[in-house]
Amino acid sequence: MPQTPPPNASLTQVLVHTPVYSQMAGALTYLSEPPLAPGTLVRVPLGPRELLGVVWDNGTSSPSDTQLDSARLRPVTAALDALPPLSANWRAFITFAASYYQRATGEVALAALPPQLRDMSSVQLARRLKKLAKNAQTSSDAAPEASSAGSNGFESTMHSIVLSDEQTRAISEFHRNDGPFLLFGATGSGKTEVFMHCTAELLARTPDAQVLVMVPEINLTPQLEARFQARFCKRYGEEAVVSMHSGMTPAQRLNAWLAAHSGTARIVLGTRMAVFASIPQLKLIIVDEEHDPSYKSHEGARYSARDLAVYRGRLDGAKVLLGSATPSLESWHHSRPAAEGGRYQRLEMPSRIGSGQLPLVRRVDMNHQPKSCIVSAPLLAAIAQRIAQGEQSMVFLNRRGYAPVLQCTDCEWKSECPNCSAYRVFHKIDQTLRCHHCGFTERVPRACPACGNPDIAPLGRGTERLEEHLAELLADIRRPDGQAVRIVRIDADTTRHKGALESQLAQVHAGEVDVLVGTQMIAKGHDFRRITLVAAVNPDNALFSSDFRAPERLFSLLMQAAGRAGRDSAVAGSSEMWLQSFHPTHPLFEALKTHDYPAFAASQLKERQQAGMPPFSFQALVRAEARSQDIAQGFLNAASRAAAGQSDTAALLAHLTLYPAVPMSMARIANIERAQMLVESSSRAALQRFLTAWQGVLHNTRSLPDCKGVLRWAIDVDPLNV
Ligand code: ADP
Ligand code: ZN
Ligand code: ZN
Repeated sequence: MPQTPPPNASLTQVLVHTPVYSQMAGALTYLSEPPLAPGTLVRVPLGPRELLGVVWDNGTSSPSDTQLDSARLRPVTAALDALPPLSANWRAFITFAASYYQRATGEVALAALPPQLRDMSSVQLARRLKKLAKNAQTSSDAAPEASSAGSNGFESTMHSIVLSDEQTRAISEFHRNDGPFLLFGATGSGKTEVFMHCTAELLARTPDAQVLVMVPEINLTPQLEARFQARFCKRYGEEAVVSMHSGMTPAQRLNAWLAAHSGTARIVLGTRMAVFASIPQLKLIIVDEEHDPSYKSHEGARYSARDLAVYRGRLDGAKVLLGSATPSLESWHHSRPAAEGGRYQRLEMPSRIGSGQLPLVRRVDMNHQPKSCIVSAPLLAAIAQRIAQGEQSMVFLNRRGYAPVLQCTDCEWKSECPNCSAYRVFHKIDQTLRCHHCGFTERVPRACPACGNPDIAPLGRGTERLEEHLAELLADIRRPDGQAVRIVRIDADTTRHKGALESQLAQVHAGEVDVLVGTQMIAKGHDFRRITLVAAVNPDNALFSSDFRAPERLFSLLMQAAGRAGRDSAVAGSSEMWLQSFHPTHPLFEALKTHDYPAFAASQLKERQQAGMPPFSFQALVRAEARSQDIAQGFLNAASRAAAGQSDTAALLAHLTLYPAVPMSMARIANIERAQMLVESSSRAALQRFLTAWQGVLHNTRSLPDCKGVLRWAIDVDPLNV
């Protein structure tokens, strides 16, 4: 091999974490000798600092950079070459994600790496990798079935479960086609079982294959993790299943990342961040509860992990399997028949496993209930009866705290937050008024701060008050064992401490709880076996929201909540879902009554088509923050006008609509005013081209004298909350 003398050191493009709109949005050029393969992690000097970087493919440097005098270029400080380089596919994926979501590639690439890598030397890294490899070896040696590979080992991972006909059909269609797939299966239809089955078959068939399984929320990872570990660790070793989510320590995150990158981990379970993991032999991506809004990031690059999963699957040649009982309307629309333009294959599992029936939906017309009634008499009687039968009920309300507002009975005073356009919520347990947006917390005043009236009263209700109220109403009811009723509340307040949620859930599973009160946190995903009654006490708010996605979210939340009831047919004679509403005959509730997601989806899609809303159009939001609404809106409107004055953006304006800037629905948080502008197009490509060209315009507009007060702005492509 020819030796390259130092003066001929090669030019190396390196991505570091640069701010989105800095002049260095592309890769930076360094010298290295010997040449470094793209994907190699390096440490490079930038000004006085030393940063972690990734060697990137040539041709990504910014123009100003290539004009640099090569004599002034600095050498790469160190290469972390103990680590195999990140693959070309991974680099292509990061490049796509950054460009689609309008961020700097360096930002997305570096955010995808575990933070601990930033402080490690190549030697330390080599040591860590060696240790991981050793652990993996011992644990797979210890796995009783690892050595007896082949069909035997595979059979015994299948336990005694006999797949249902619907499961069998879904799996065989999955094998016959390429996907992407949308597994549309009722709650309790055995979707997770299908996920595990497809995973098992793939791993057994392909020696190195890796599988990525995504779940929307950290809270749901332990249950899924346990099921996957129980199924796979016996055969592939303890190290074969790793998790990735933000609740892990930096060291755990690094280990999981290294295990995935080096191939030791065959199954990677994680929240949305896991979509960026380096998984070189990725052959299958599963997205559980694909409709869940948690897949969308709301800071930094506002990516949708669900949408990226589909793109990544195509890039990596991995199958993609999305699953939900209430798919997002986007995915549902994509899974329409191919003849109508559908791109996803729909797999259907309409029935619950065993004889478990979907709950009977009962509506209470609150117009006929006493004023300010919280829990109606018929609902209360139904809960009492369940308790007497030794069954569990779940009551949910989408608002934590005791009361959303505290008000003076004499004057106009209400518990407004001084910093936000919101009320502070009354928390009775510690007698505080807390702003759920900026965190501002004060003790409840003894008297009205405005007029001195000592009589200030809670208005409306949150979970804390609901819990208190139910305890009073059910005080005389006895469990079958003669003891008093046990109520537990689960929401963000009761689960703040590590382990609290797990122990509360364990209580529910163990049957120690009769009534579970909580926010939507309890309505999602959990496999509660003994709940036979689910009640939504006040679901009306979302019916008349200005956000066009509000009905979709409400329907899916209520369907998911209903799905918590009667999951165990041995316990459930007849499970029920109760809805208290002032609009009981609203079409949304009618569709819910018959558990008819397709009908609901069809009517929503029709409305969206008529109104030219997604998925029939494509949207982006530009949000701006400033000290005043005038400045925030002025900036957006000025950038909008400037788009007409610049040829590349102006050429695209015929294909787009730029709406005037408006205050966001939460207009002020922590004394910062927020405004937004909607950009809409019937062509995704036109929208993308426009945004890319408009970035520079926005950037320049911000430096205009009138826009000096703009603190921040960001583009959100495919926004969920408009
Ligand atoms: P989903 O994810 O669709 O809500 P799960 O996969 O969690 O459904 O299945 C619900 C329950 O039914 C689980 O306890 C699961 O173990 C069980 N189950 C799934 N498939 C079968 C089957 N073929 N035979 C028996 N039990 C099954
Ligand atoms: Zn007052
Ligand atoms: Zn506030």
